Amino acid sequence: MSSSSSSSSHYLDAIPHCDCIPPLPAKERTSWKPSNPGRRFLNCPMSLISDDHCDFFDWIDPPVTEHYRITQNQLRAWLMVSHSDCNADLPELRRTCMWP
Ligand SMILES: [Zn+2]
Repeated sequence: MSSSSSSSSHYLDAIPHCDCIPPLPAKERTSWKPSNPGRRFLNCPMSLISDDHCDFFDWIDPPVTEHYRITQNQLRAWLMVSHSDCNADLPELRRTCMWP
């Protein structure tokens, strides 16, 4: 998936919008993939609730450093194992998504 640019056409009234017709306010999400743990991005608000959505995608945060990526992945793996009996307390850690 290619990264969309932050062109001014995506910003209506200073709010980022996706490429749907009509454009919808973009949804802020957090990546939990090992390549970008905790990195926030914007995409189409319909992407998790419908197959009919656009491909708008834009990173909010800069790329994670190698040290941060390794540390986050190790910490997350440790927490998932050590707290496997109380998953209800860790909803954020159990979140996964389809994006980088
Ligand atoms: Zn859209």
